[in-house]
Amino acid sequence: MIYTLGIDIGSTTSKCVLLENGTAIAAKSLVVAGTGTDGPRQAFEAVLEQGGISREQVAYVMATGYGRATFSSMDSEMSELSCHAKGMYAVAPGVRTIIDIGGQDAKVIRLNDQGRILNFLMNDKCAAGTGRFLDVMAGILQMDVDELGGYALQSKEPARISSTCTVFAESEVISQLSKGVHIPDLVAGICNSVASRVAALAKRADVRSDVYMTGGVAKNQGVREALARELGVPVLTTEDAQYMGAMGAAVAAFEKCQKG
Ligand code: ADP
Repeated sequence: MIYTLGIDIGSTTSKCVLLENGTAIAAKSLVVAGTGTDGPRQAFEAVLEQGGISREQVAYVMATGYGRATFSSMDSEMSELSCHAKGMYAVAPGVRTIIDIGGQDAKVIRLNDQGRILNFLMNDKCAAGTGRFLDVMAGILQMDVDELGGYALQSKEPARISSTCTVFAESEVISQLSKGVHIPDLVAGICNSVASRVAALAKRADVRSDVYMTGGVAKNQGVREALARELGVPVLTTEDAQYMGAMGAAVAAFEKCQKG
């Protein structure tokens, strides 16, 4: 049995996937603390413990994500784009477009039928259209970010958030809240706002089906459905969407082992 480990150190979360022979997930871990914190080490130790093995039994550790260069227990590192592509293609070979929305950026990656990257687009300049926007808005509404999707689905008349800047949108949400706009409508408006910014990015990348969402925001059904409406194609996801970067890193680690 060959064990390989992928660690994805993001801005918000640290994720690990432990793979057996490059395919089967033996264990996974997620700590809500990203680069510059103790989160990466905690996630690393948790996945080893869950898998019931020691660091020495892992043949290769590949790091990815925004904070990858800071992790000392790795053998090498690989870009997030390559890892998301590798991870998603390993799980769903029909994927041709990946929409990855994380805690501080959004990426659209186009793949060919071999899983190779054809082109990509990224927004890492502005919090609107990223998980950060949702985190800020959830804070104002005093709810957890994982509650947003459920509220959005209850909306009958989504509110319109017209500001394109997170700081101004924050005031707009507070003002709408004080005017008595229903919470589900406000939340749906917030999800739609993220989806329309990411859809604008995706449309420039020539979206092809199957479209899969990766990253933490893939868990938000409100954003997923709004994206599907905006793009006019189904937007799929998997239970392990948030782990796709770590998954791809573990697959890449296995490929390194095979090459000797
Ligand atoms: P990064 O890799 O940049 O640290 P992630 O891909 O882990 O980011 O995504 C983090 C974002 O995902 C958070 O900012 C949050 O908005 C969103 N998120 C995380 N967990 C959930 C959840 N259970 N439900 C909905 N959204 C979530």
